[in-house]
Amino acid sequence: MNAADSAEMMLNLSARGCVQTQELSLADIALVNTCTVRDHAEHKALSFLGRLAKWKAEKTGRIIIFAGCAAERLGAGVRRKFPQIDIIAGAKNIENFTNIIEKSRLFDNSGATRGTDRHTDKSSDAVALVNIMRGCSCKCSYCIVPYVRGEAYSIPPEDIFKRIEDKLSAGAKEIVLLGQTVNEYNYKGKNFSKLLQDIVKLPSLARVRYISPHPIFINDEFIQTLSSSQKISKHIHLPLQSGSTKVLTDMKRGYTREDFLQKAKMLSSVGIEISTDIIVGYPTETEPDFKDTLTLLDKINFTAAYCFKFSPRAGTPAALLTPLDEKILENRLDILLNKIKQSSALAYARQLGTMQSVLMETASNGRTLTNFWVRTTRNYNKGETIELKIKDVKDTILIA
Ligand code: SF4
Repeated sequence: MNAADSAEMMLNLSARGCVQTQELSLADIALVNTCTVRDHAEHKALSFLGRLAKWKAEKTGRIIIFAGCAAERLGAGVRRKFPQIDIIAGAKNIENFTNIIEKSRLFDNSGATRGTDRHTDKSSDAVALVNIMRGCSCKCSYCIVPYVRGEAYSIPPEDIFKRIEDKLSAGAKEIVLLGQTVNEYNYKGKNFSKLLQDIVKLPSLARVRYISPHPIFINDEFIQTLSSSQKISKHIHLPLQSGSTKVLTDMKRGYTREDFLQKAKMLSSVGIEISTDIIVGYPTETEPDFKDTLTLLDKINFTAAYCFKFSPRAGTPAALLTPLDEKILENRLDILLNKIKQSSALAYARQLGTMQSVLMETASNGRTLTNFWVRTTRNYNKGETIELKIKDVKDTILIA
């Protein structure tokens, strides 16, 4: 989501004649797009912002833009601590970015290249990210996202198709649809399944993926849609968060352990590989609750899981609960990571000897339709899809 928002802001800056660089010493503008979903992410962003004061002082006219979720959460007050910030663009205002820039008038005096009207989205990346929803209305008890990104809303299909067609004509072959609860998409009756069914009709599209679906919006129509086209990814990243129904209820996730197992079974039955997110040490998680998460991993062979210790975010209901001891959190995380390693190793081993259709993202790296990362022993053209045999596994990379 952040990568897509950064690209969107970059498009606006490009239209003003700016050219992107990753080299801070060459830059006239530093765009700091931030995440606040965990405390650690926000700290990293703020410490980078602190270091930018020196960079700004080295050359007149340099501009710092502080954007995204941490900017939304901290608001204008952040300027007291970091007076070097010129422009604040909170996550709820990303779509208003052009107006924010216009209003600031800062660019009129900056050293940035300007005055042209050229559009520099000439990226020929094989994979392009496209937002289809913004915000989230789920209000899981631990999550800051609804507070910093606002209520969920679906972007009109015509805007989505315009964006996708732009990306495809710039050379993209695979589109990744983005939304906090991407499969909740519904614009005047056009739901996520119907949107997918229309997207796969685009002739120059090779593949479509989506991040992140929510278990409660998985239904029969969606499962049928997934199996209706070879252009739709055979992988789903389906956040579990906990294997205990009690903890899921406390988290306000809207599903039980059994519901999740049933949805995972439906997905596996049509050949979908599943990865997930898990939070350990939610304040009400007991040892038996944690064991429920471990035993669920025996029932679903996840290809990967992003596991995190519970991180209290001020303003969320879970932040009011007494946190568990840090040692308990660390111990549970270690146990979980070991278990996931085994599950993931099994999933990778299953790929050995199989033929896979690989979409090349660089000359020698690509992805299977089931979203395994593949390294090839020969070079191919970026954006090409090739049938390859998997002959080895190195950690989380298949060798073809
Ligand atoms: S569905 Fe995801 S983004 Fe929305 S509140 Fe829950 S965890 Fe946060």
